[in-house]
Amino acid sequence: MTKIAFIGVGNMGAGMAANQAKAQHQVAAFDLSPAALAKAVEAGCHAADSVAAAVGDAEVVITMLPAGKHVREVYADQVLPNAAKGALLIDCSTIDVESARDVAAQATEAGFRFADAPVSGGIMAADAGTLAFMVGCAEADFAAVEAALAPMARVVLRAGEAGAGQAAKICNNMLLGVSMLGTCEAFALAEKLGLEAERFFEIASKSSGQCWSLTSYCPWPGPVPAAPSNRGYEGGFLTALMLKDLKLSQDAAAKVGASTPMGAQAGALYAMFDGLGHGGKDFSAVLQLLRGKLDDLA
Ligand code: NAD
Repeated sequence: MTKIAFIGVGNMGAGMAANQAKAQHQVAAFDLSPAALAKAVEAGCHAADSVAAAVGDAEVVITMLPAGKHVREVYADQVLPNAAKGALLIDCSTIDVESARDVAAQATEAGFRFADAPVSGGIMAADAGTLAFMVGCAEADFAAVEAALAPMARVVLRAGEAGAGQAAKICNNMLLGVSMLGTCEAFALAEKLGLEAERFFEIASKSSGQCWSLTSYCPWPGPVPAAPSNRGYEGGFLTALMLKDLKLSQDAAAKVGASTPMGAQAGALYAMFDGLGHGGKDFSAVLQLLRGKLDDLA
């Protein structure tokens, strides 16, 4: 049994903390939202009164917070001054690479082991304990990080040193945004050319256009039964979260001078789709924007 402090038990953190409790670890949870905290308690965690109280005697501290500024503040003001000596600190939030590297440097300076470990997989994977973790940490610390993440994970991969987990996450999601838009455009063009969507799917899935967005997460309802397109684009990976990750990738690209014109275009399209009020739909629903069929979205 490991003593774990879990800070941020919202949509993702709730299931993740519950899986740590299920694995017989002692989980002290804290969240600014009393409702979120109550849910974590129902799932077997203990409620802490503050971040400081949660981390005081924890061997592992896990944070799952909205954005870089929350992570910076929580670490600088509460985790680093109060965590027990020798604690392993793991931030699973999706944040900018610069914040991840800064927090890692502060944690190391204060004598802690730190990993950035953002996840791939949404709320269902968090609940099921099947998240993919992309880890940035010292090589020597990886075995401990992997063991700490195991109850929440399908796979834990080390991307490199501090910040590399966040870099892997935003590069992956920029690729995903671009590939989804390409897939949607191809379906929209096929439709206008009088080519049946099912025929196009069958052919492209066996040809060089094959990609995950097409064959695992098809935006056109029908060919991939498990895809959100078959349930009105509800659930899945929200457009608003894809937009957040595309903004992170574009901010990072601007900082390091990387050329990412397709990522920029994807960001503009998802911003438009979000601005039209569809931020709560799965990101594959952007197909209906490209088809000119936004009215079909509830
Ligand atoms: P969420 O808003 O549901 O949860 C964040 C929680 O953090 C909230 O409950 C909030 O009250 C809490 N919080 C904020 N500031 C705090 C503080 N100072 N102290 C304690 N608690 C605080 O968000 P989420 O959907 O769970 O996402 C969390 C992170 O995971 C984000 O970085 C997001 O980008 C990433 N992510 C989300 C998904 C998804 O499908 N939802 C998928 C992959 C990654």
